[in-house]
Amino acid sequence: MDFDDSPEEAAFRRECRAFLEAHARPRVGHETLADSPFARPATTAEEDAKIEECKRWQRTKFDAGWAGLTWPVEYGGRGLPALMARVFAEEERRFEVPFGHFAQSIGMAGPTIIEHGTDQQKADLLEPMLTGEHLWCQLFSEPGAGSDLAGLRTSAIVDGDEIVVNGQKVWTSNAREADWGMLLVRTDIDVPKHRGITYLLLDMRTPGIEIRPLVQITGAAHFNEVFLTDVRVPVANVLGSINGGWGPILSTLMSERTGIGGASSVGVPDLIELARGRGVLDDPTIRQDLMRLHGYTETMRFLGYRVHTAASRGELPGPESSVLKLASSRRLEAMGNIAMAILGPGATLAGHDAVSGGFWQNFAFLGQWMARIGGGTDAVQRNIIGDNVLGLPPEPRLDKGIPFRDIPT
Ligand SMILES: Cc1cc2nc3c(=O)[nH]c(=O)nc-3n(C[C@H](O)[C@H](O)[C@H](O)COP(=O)(O)OP(=O)(O)OC[C@H]3O[C@@H](n4cnc5c(N)ncnc54)[C@H](O)[C@@H]3O)c2cc1C
Repeated sequence: MDFDDSPEEAAFRRECRAFLEAHARPRVGHETLADSPFARPATTAEEDAKIEECKRWQRTKFDAGWAGLTWPVEYGGRGLPALMARVFAEEERRFEVPFGHFAQSIGMAGPTIIEHGTDQQKADLLEPMLTGEHLWCQLFSEPGAGSDLAGLRTSAIVDGDEIVVNGQKVWTSNAREADWGMLLVRTDIDVPKHRGITYLLLDMRTPGIEIRPLVQITGAAHFNEVFLTDVRVPVANVLGSINGGWGPILSTLMSERTGIGGASSVGVPDLIELARGRGVLDDPTIRQDLMRLHGYTETMRFLGYRVHTAASRGELPGPESSVLKLASSRRLEAMGNIAMAILGPGATLAGHDAVSGGFWQNFAFLGQWMARIGGGTDAVQRNIIGDNVLGLPPEPRLDKGIPFRDIPT
């Protein structure tokens, strides 16, 4: 396979660069990492300011026709193949632009609504995602349902043309700032667990929603607990059908894994600069570790091409999204460990005393668990790869075929 740009891709890359050069500053290496939000725990005010910045950048992209590159034209996108979106993402990473906060909207909710939504849902909800007006959050995990998502217990009862929801969600990223949520509820307990779940599109301003921030080890409060008490959701906001939530759920999860598996803008060149600055670039073990990380990075790049080529052919992401996510975890783990080895005793410093304001400790070392747990843990991805790629005997399932009400808790 030829990994160089085709003439069409090269022309598109030039177009991307022209847009980015006109609207953003090029990245200037790892000196700027101290200013990154990962260098220190963001306060609520800093987080709000960053979200506004992200929204402004999203609006700039939308106005110039650079938002939703792979989305159909009728929903405000450009209908381009996934490989072209990849070219744009590669170029965007070379510039100082605010990243984040739209992964749940444009990367997960949008594609799921395009695939499973009604015409009305598409008309109402898709464009505000692309313009940056609406942020979305994912209300999937519960205290007793993470890896075993189908075990969720938030209950919902149909009452006329509304559904009344009661229960609790946890680890909800960006719930505080979100305008809309992808909410999973249990609507039937008399059928096996995967068959009694409904996927709702929830307006986060609906009465009965209480959001409590959770502070993690870095000091930031990235995610939240969300309590739902008698929350009334119109039946028109069911995505797919009542009790038919599992299909749209799989679409969201595949998109999430593919998104998390995408490479971050920080990588081997930044670590080489760090090692040079600390005078350890000639250390043979550091050099060997850097080469290993380079190997992971290249493997991920090629896996990414495979996923995006499949998407360009109109194929939905399959178990390769689990391979990509696992490779991304391995890469972040390696990056965290190498950064700590390069910093040596300096790795124990925090905040302004630390190199790059503690970016490496927060982002690469402590932050690796975001990717290793969020979107399905490493162990869960291994199970999926074992079952669906390697054809190993499936995990024993004690709850298979049993009505949800009879599953022991
Ligand atoms: C940064 C971050 C952001 C997140 N954002 C969101 C969000 O926005 N919305 C949302 O809904 N959720 C979110 N989550 C939650 C995330 O999806 C869950 O944490 C994850 O699915 C794991 O579930 P759990 O925490 O309940 O752990 P558990 O499922 O209880 O797992 C505990 C341990 O058991 C292992 N384990 C469990 N089952 C198996 C098995 N069958 N085989 C082998 N090992 C197993 C796991 O690997 C893990 O080590 C986020 C998590 C993180 C870290």
